[in-house]
Amino acid sequence: MNGAAPIGDGIFQIAVPITNNPLGHTLVYAMESPNGLILVDAGWDDDNGWNGLTAGLAEIGHSVKDVEGVVLTHFHPDHVGLCGRVREASGAWIAMHRSDFDEFELMTAARDQEFLNFHRQNLINAGAGPSDVAAFELADAPQAPTTSASKPDRILNDDERIPLAGRELRAVHTPGHTPGHVCFHLEDADVMFTGDHVLQKTTPHVGAFQYPMEERDALAEFLASLRRMKSMNITRGLGAHGIPIDDVAARSDELVAHHEERLSHLHEAFGDDELTVWQVAERMKWYKPWGDISPLGKHMALAEAAAHLRHLVARNLAVQVPDRAPAVFVRVE
Ligand SMILES: [Zn+2]
Ligand SMILES: [Zn+2]
Repeated sequence: MNGAAPIGDGIFQIAVPITNNPLGHTLVYAMESPNGLILVDAGWDDDNGWNGLTAGLAEIGHSVKDVEGVVLTHFHPDHVGLCGRVREASGAWIAMHRSDFDEFELMTAARDQEFLNFHRQNLINAGAGPSDVAAFELADAPQAPTTSASKPDRILNDDERIPLAGRELRAVHTPGHTPGHVCFHLEDADVMFTGDHVLQKTTPHVGAFQYPMEERDALAEFLASLRRMKSMNITRGLGAHGIPIDDVAARSDELVAHHEERLSHLHEAFGDDELTVWQVAERMKWYKPWGDISPLGKHMALAEAAAHLRHLVARNLAVQVPDRAPAVFVRVE
């Protein structure tokens, strides 16, 4: 899937490789406008990614110097990564939603040992055993390239129109995948850049960051954002991974149904047992048996399980048992 492809309406898709990641690529979109190119996301920050981006721009008859601005769908390294290098080469501005900008500040402050300690304690709070905690520490975790070089210089709010010559682009805040995830509606072409909020072939990751129970109900946010997408009634969608979306409204509906099914399955899987977050993860259905999932895969699954558990608690379908460490939960009928 390397290279660049024209989408029509002055939009081009550039597949920027993500090194050593099963996702393979981030699909960066370049839009032509009278003042230059606007990029939706930038791709993974290493030489491999940079070469993919610059070669893709050359293929569509441009250079990185033509980039006027970068709009970021969300704060994940496969989206944010290269924006600092793009700005350095072109003088482009970088825009991101307020809530992910806050995250950016937090993550760049908490690095290395402090970050690892946080994850270790978090896993223990979730009920992970010593061997699972050790396995995570040994796993080759890809480090988020969140240097201050890629810090955004424009903050976006919901429903904000981004001032561009000759194009109508609006930010639509769609929290869930991250707190500040934004889809971009290119109104003049009626196409939605969906980032990681809606994908055609995969179900976007929704996780909780803090275990056993965090304040933020990420799944509730995600479901509300999907319903909002549906209500906008837009057909054509361009996601950041995989293939184009035929019908954004219909796909949003499918994703809601998928999570409703997972929630009722989890509620059933509880039975009469008391479960830690880790045990909840073990009982959910994954793409392969729990024992075969890699330590990093388990970490992602645990986050996903915590988000579903958090939402069951919000719906009064599960409750935390008081005074237990690690925390355990029971089903409410
Ligand atoms: Zn993402
Ligand atoms: Zn992504």
